[in-house]
Amino acid sequence: MDYRLELQRALDAARPVLGTGRVADYIPALGAADPHAFGLALATVDGEVHGVGDWETQFSIQSISKLFTLALALASEEALALWHRVGREPSGTPFNSLIQLEAEQGIPRNPFINAGAVVVTDRLLSLTGDAAGAVREFLRAESGNPRLDTDLAVAASEAQHGHRNAALAHFIASYDNLENPVEAVLGHYYAHCAIAASCRDLALAGLFLARHGLRADGSRLLSRSDAKRINAVLLTCGTYDAAGDFAYRVGLPGKSGVGGGILAVVPGRGTLCAWGPALDRAGNSVGAVTALDAFTTNTGWSVF
Ligand code: GLU
Repeated sequence: MDYRLELQRALDAARPVLGTGRVADYIPALGAADPHAFGLALATVDGEVHGVGDWETQFSIQSISKLFTLALALASEEALALWHRVGREPSGTPFNSLIQLEAEQGIPRNPFINAGAVVVTDRLLSLTGDAAGAVREFLRAESGNPRLDTDLAVAASEAQHGHRNAALAHFIASYDNLENPVEAVLGHYYAHCAIAASCRDLALAGLFLARHGLRADGSRLLSRSDAKRINAVLLTCGTYDAAGDFAYRVGLPGKSGVGGGILAVVPGRGTLCAWGPALDRAGNSVGAVTALDAFTTNTGWSVF
């Protein structure tokens, strides 16, 4: 396959919709992003990396970080311990919803909604002593980009406007499902969400999921089984309450963030990372979904 040609075709498909939708501004520091920016990167398990558009521009990874917190927590302990504290079913409600938490007694539905990610961040904090640092170091190592870091202005903006996340975290704590103080967990949660990275960086950093658990240096991060399971949860829960539509259109496990990025995995082959800041009503980037839809439709690179 001519990767560059296929990436260009996907970009051309997305061009008419770029700027459609809304840039997230509930975190004020994100509101300044250019709604017409767009990048798309492909990294293959054979070591090729290609991109088009703004694929080397850094953006706020936001909820894409939840994929890495889950992988690092599962890598550090028996998976069963974590799955007692967080479920793995699609929520069907917005990413920051409080509604299901009461019915389910402080056990979030899955690791990719905010409530679930708070629990996973808490676990990673207990396991490593520095959850945000663990995510940052992993991203640096896998992407080969030593400058990748938390954008402190975005993290501060999140913390300042984080009433909803604080409410979720306190609610979870009221059911004894946090091991660390709420403020510490939220600090690490904001810091890993506020990491700035490019499509190139994220495509490379996600390759362990395409390599069935193997890191860039050949060492094993996850068992094949855990890598398969993370891909499954990404497919069913990774793109907010539009995961069904994303599976229908793109047909790949993927994780989106309100910064406009989507990291998608083609198991055994590679990863794609698309970014465009304008979001649809569910919170997924309109341009990124359109480009990924075109890429998988044109190439047949989907799990279906
Ligand atoms: N840090 C964001 C929040 O907590 C993440 C949201 C997202 O990307 O889904 O609201």
